[in-house]
Amino acid sequence: MMTFEGLGIDARLIQATNELGYVNPTAIQEQAIPILLSGTQDFIGLAQTGTGKTAAFGLPLLHIIDAAAKYPQALVVCPTRELCMQIVKEIELFKKYMTGISVVAVYGGASIGLQIRDLKRGVQIVVATPGRLIDLIERKAINLEQIKYVVLDEADEMLNMGFQDDIEFILKNTPKRESTWLFSATMPTEIRKVSKKYMKDPKEVIVGKVNTANKNIDHQYYVTTAQHRYDTLKRIIDFNPGIYGIIFTRTKLDAQEISERLTREGYDIDALHGDLTQGQRDKVMGQFRDKTLQLLIATDVAARGIDVQGITHVINFELPDDIEIYTHRSGRTGRAGLQGICISIVHAKEMYKFKQIERINNSQFHKMDIPSGKDVCRKQFFSFMDKLLSADISHGDYETYVPMLAEKFADVSKEDVLKRVAAMEFDRFLKYYEHAEDLNVRERDRTERGKREERGPEMGRRREERSREGARGEGSRGEARTEYTRGASGYSRLFVNLGTKDGFFKASFLQFVLDMSDLKKEVLGKIDMRDMNSWIEIEKGAAQQMIRSLDGKKYKGRSIRMNDADSGGPAGFSSDRSRRPRRGE
Ligand code: AMP
Repeated sequence: MMTFEGLGIDARLIQATNELGYVNPTAIQEQAIPILLSGTQDFIGLAQTGTGKTAAFGLPLLHIIDAAAKYPQALVVCPTRELCMQIVKEIELFKKYMTGISVVAVYGGASIGLQIRDLKRGVQIVVATPGRLIDLIERKAINLEQIKYVVLDEADEMLNMGFQDDIEFILKNTPKRESTWLFSATMPTEIRKVSKKYMKDPKEVIVGKVNTANKNIDHQYYVTTAQHRYDTLKRIIDFNPGIYGIIFTRTKLDAQEISERLTREGYDIDALHGDLTQGQRDKVMGQFRDKTLQLLIATDVAARGIDVQGITHVINFELPDDIEIYTHRSGRTGRAGLQGICISIVHAKEMYKFKQIERINNSQFHKMDIPSGKDVCRKQFFSFMDKLLSADISHGDYETYVPMLAEKFADVSKEDVLKRVAAMEFDRFLKYYEHAEDLNVRERDRTERGKREERGPEMGRRREERSREGARGEGSRGEARTEYTRGASGYSRLFVNLGTKDGFFKASFLQFVLDMSDLKKEVLGKIDMRDMNSWIEIEKGAAQQMIRSLDGKKYKGRSIRMNDADSGGPAGFSSDRSRRPRRGE
């Protein structure tokens, strides 16, 4: 296996990466670093975020920068302020043992005066968003004359955000550029054009699959129990009155049964599956196309080749096993520049699988609360009122009936008329949702709900409400407990090389480690999260199970390392007590 030493980078950089817990270079680092160290070779790296791109360009930059020359030599251009700050933060960590090298971030939305002052300190590496950089160039506050290396990070994102001209301007204004390093998750033709125009025989490296995520699709998921899957589906449909969607099931039996059930309950839906004759299939498709059917429920095989415009929602009744299928399903919406939503109904136990899809699909997935009965009623009510207000009354001969209506409603107030209209329309919803239960599986009531389910389905409404209240109360106490630092006795402290830079917040991180290890929240103590690493306090008896479940597994393409921080793990890093986070860090 390749090591950082083997890549030929400065020993001081290796010392820093060792400290950060980097044992081996990631794929993009292994392939990019030897090329970039030459300083003169143009380079295109097709890699997604989370593959270690920052170090892939950050380490060679630090290696080849002339620390004695106090002017900007390298320019890193990236799409957002957040990314800008993140890159600077990482470069700062990498250069911990180097002296004389300065890096500065310049981005919009912050004081340009302070940034100009920073630039005057004699920095060698400037990390910038395109807009602010142009601003600084125009104010002559930055001199790009001596820039030798230009890194374009997340180039596709920058083009998506309309920065093409700015990037070309920057490339044109770096006359002494010796090499251009372009990183991108996708390779749209515009990037090809930019590279053809401004780069010389770039070496191209592709890591993993080139991401083709459709930015017009919002990926959402709802967590519920297996027994509530159907009710959750119904609630999602009811919560989206204007839905025009396709629901995917794994089997044709499911497609058929759900379709029949929903039809009985008054929904405009039909099923598409392999048992239909061509004539039946054409009929269903025709009705769906002309929107007589609001919903289509289909198996993957039967839905092959369907191309319908304007689909607002794709719903995965269950997650598919195959990630390709997920991408295929979700691609039915968000077409032709329209926005679309892809919803997945997942069981708490499927979360791990779901995270895999999330990682490979490289899209941001949003956890949503299953709407309550009240939410649904409110949504339906307002949607109906909007329809009422926008009803077209210009064509009918309504005027003729007005005197008659006026007489009939003489003693009824306008408010009462509205109430009656609402009652007629909403009776079904109000009755149905009057005692609707909470279908969400929340992290903290997973265990409790599991026990109840084992006991059988006889739970009454009051009992459900009680437990919901209980869950809420327990929740706040539970949170407090996580924050609370317990005494060391009885607890182990585990190190893990995942942190906020991996996209985790405390709650999602907690959920992740619990899902992976199948442990209960109660075994955990304090969680300390930093950018790249975290420390987890856990009951001694449960520590090994957690280590076994996480250590060596993959997250976003790289290996998770977890070990006992206090007993000195195999990597040795864990015994470095100086890295223990301070409170509030
Ligand atoms: P990036 O793609 O640069 O955002 O990096 C994603 C994450 O991987 C960050 O948390 C980095 O600290 C981490 N990382 C980068 N290179 C390595 C490596 N060689 N070994 C372990 N973690 C790494």
